[in-house]
Amino acid sequence: KTICSGLDASGKGIVKIKNDKVLIENLLPQEEVELEYTIKKEPKVISAMRLSESADRVKPRCRIFDRCGGCQLQHVNYKAQLEWKKEKVQSLLGRYGQVQEILGMEEPWAYRNKVIATFSLNKKGKVIAGIYEEDSHQVVPYSECWIQDAMAAKILNTLCELMTKFRIEPYDEDKRTGLVRHCLIRIGHVSREVLVCLVCASPIFPARKQLVQQLRGRHPEITTIVMNVNNRSTSIVLGQQERVLCGTGKIQDQLCGLRFSITAKSFYQINTQQTEILYYKAMELANLTGQERVLDAYCGIGTITLSLAKHVKKVYGVEVVYQAIEDAKNNALLNKIDNVDFVCDDAGKYMVELVKKNTHLDVVFVDPPRKGCSKEFLDYLIQAKPSKIIYISCDVATQARDIKYLQEFNYQVDMCQPVDMFPHTTHIENIVRLKYK
Ligand code: SAH
Repeated sequence: KTICSGLDASGKGIVKIKNDKVLIENLLPQEEVELEYTIKKEPKVISAMRLSESADRVKPRCRIFDRCGGCQLQHVNYKAQLEWKKEKVQSLLGRYGQVQEILGMEEPWAYRNKVIATFSLNKKGKVIAGIYEEDSHQVVPYSECWIQDAMAAKILNTLCELMTKFRIEPYDEDKRTGLVRHCLIRIGHVSREVLVCLVCASPIFPARKQLVQQLRGRHPEITTIVMNVNNRSTSIVLGQQERVLCGTGKIQDQLCGLRFSITAKSFYQINTQQTEILYYKAMELANLTGQERVLDAYCGIGTITLSLAKHVKKVYGVEVVYQAIEDAKNNALLNKIDNVDFVCDDAGKYMVELVKKNTHLDVVFVDPPRKGCSKEFLDYLIQAKPSKIIYISCDVATQARDIKYLQEFNYQVDMCQPVDMFPHTTHIENIVRLKYK
């Protein structure tokens, strides 16, 4: 018998056996557990039986919570989830400055505006849509998902019905037979426009016309349907080739009072409501006067860049994905914003350019992918010497690493603000403000 001491980064309960830590699924801090285990080199748990219940434990809403793996914290009440996330930030960044209360959602459900489902056949030969079971190739069907926009599941259910009716076969990853691999759905949180993208293993799609016609008939809310061809065996969902089956292949949505055009491939934050909170907070922390020259590094389709535009004199956006920069330029036109420059380049290389050209920067916004910033980027950021850096991150560990480095060059953390973008999962988003001493 032993007591769980905490949750690890993946949401599993930590217990100690002798001097080793082991991880137990579905176990919360302070809960007592009876373990059966063997010890060779390391302890190996054979069975675990929970003996007590934490006050933070709740019944997960989702019926496939333990098989899906998409949510790791649905068995923890939301308030305790937020506390756990704040503590996580505190433990990694607390030594640099005080961590503010995490900004959570009032209604932490149905927030995902993007859904990806995979298809399979059930024993009765009917098409089912779902997600791969954790670490396997087995599709777990779902007819509802509590964290997604509810419209997505309705469209997926119709799609399964129609695929069964027209005998359109789901692709089988092991046998490499069949046609439809995945369906990606994007829903404009504000606009309610809907994009459906069918990812197929081959460009030849029999019964395509009937499928599109009937799907639209049943769901007039669908704005556009595209087909994407992905014939590689890879876990990456989308292939290169795309064909618009109806509509324009794009939807629009509103964010921070601006309009954004989004395609199947665009990077667009999945929780629109919290993204606004995140961006507004980040801008507030920058204390802008309207006179600044600002860089938005790792800018994606320009959502932060364009939100910043009306609060500053000039803003540069840099992003490595060509299509994203094309989207960003179009979004600038769409919103009639002309004090922005979008550049397709590696953020580090571009930073070198700016320093060489002696471009003055007052504030730099940084929002890198999980691996954080490159050393080259940080080295030249230090040389550019902006008075403030607003560092947004979806991985606090790499953020802490980069901040430690910046600290050595006279940048000091003076504000740390986590935002909960992904309720019921272990993902944490965090904003840090650094000032030049
Ligand atoms: N700020 C945007 C996007 C953040 S995601 C938003 O909030 O929507 C991080 C972005 O960094 C992605 O668009 C990714 O394509 C881009 N990226 C990844 N590596 C990069 C690099 N080396 N240089 C520039 N951009 C990069």
